[in-house]
Amino acid sequence: MADRDGLIWYDGKMVPWRDATTHVLTHTLHYGMGVFEGVRAYKTDKGTAIFRLQDHTDRLFRSAHILGMKLPYDKATLLEAQKAAIRENNLESGYMRPMAFYGAEAMGISAKTLSTHVIVAAWKWGAYMGDDAIKHGIRVKTSSFARHHVNIHMCKAKANGNYMNSILAHQEAVQDGYDEALLLDVDGFVAEGSGENIFIIRNNKIYTPDLTSALEGITRDTVVQLATEFGYQIIEKRITRDEVYSADEAFFTGTAAEVTPIRELDNRAIGTGTRGPITEKLQSKYFDVVHGRSPEHIDWLTLV
Ligand code: PMP
Repeated sequence: MADRDGLIWYDGKMVPWRDATTHVLTHTLHYGMGVFEGVRAYKTDKGTAIFRLQDHTDRLFRSAHILGMKLPYDKATLLEAQKAAIRENNLESGYMRPMAFYGAEAMGISAKTLSTHVIVAAWKWGAYMGDDAIKHGIRVKTSSFARHHVNIHMCKAKANGNYMNSILAHQEAVQDGYDEALLLDVDGFVAEGSGENIFIIRNNKIYTPDLTSALEGITRDTVVQLATEFGYQIIEKRITRDEVYSADEAFFTGTAAEVTPIRELDNRAIGTGTRGPITEKLQSKYFDVVHGRSPEHIDWLTLV
């Protein structure tokens, strides 16, 4: 990743990719106290457009607020930085990673005297779990790792350190031969994937866990809106793993994962064991929206 051409926005300047380095005593590297976003840009008829840029930027600021981290740039600057990261890397489509982190002025738990830095990197990134996953779905395993408890980690913050939990869960699932992990909350109810929110469908009704211990996903919000427009009833509630086993369809949502069907959980086929019809309808609409083919949702796109 580090050795490639391109530019990274780093504290207000575009820096050559290979020079966008930082000191080994950087506080965030040691303790994980930082915030980030994952944002995608897509090719549209009118040019490259970033999907829900304002919402991702708002969430970045919310995450920083939750952690008590003061960002040294305002929203307008970071909106522009993100557009520039796509534009100046000549990306027709791609993934973007804004991140705020503490500097290396001091070691120890206190972040009081530290500088705060912001980067925005952007690069080409196709389907997160591959094209086959988008078409046929993935095999998922319930994780032995519980999702963060709400009073241990701040689940609504997209915080760097939170992702140790995701990495442990994902690593375990992949080592056991699955594509992704499903994490339960500390009470045993379905929370989310390692980097995705989850939906299940039964008898034409769509269910998704409430957001107690899950990230407030922007793709989740998008799919809820699209499904509502199609006339589906969306029910937010506590979901058990056996409700997932007996669902007609299930899928994950995330900026990276987009809308990825789940064809199996814990070796039980979900529905027919492939992408279900409602999942396909929502997925196809999602791709229309992000690619600017849905005029009524054009407000979600920001041309770069
Ligand atoms: N949950 C977790 C833990 C995530 O990391 C992500 C990816 N940001 C999501 C859910 C989905 O969020 P979004 O749709 O905003 O990308």
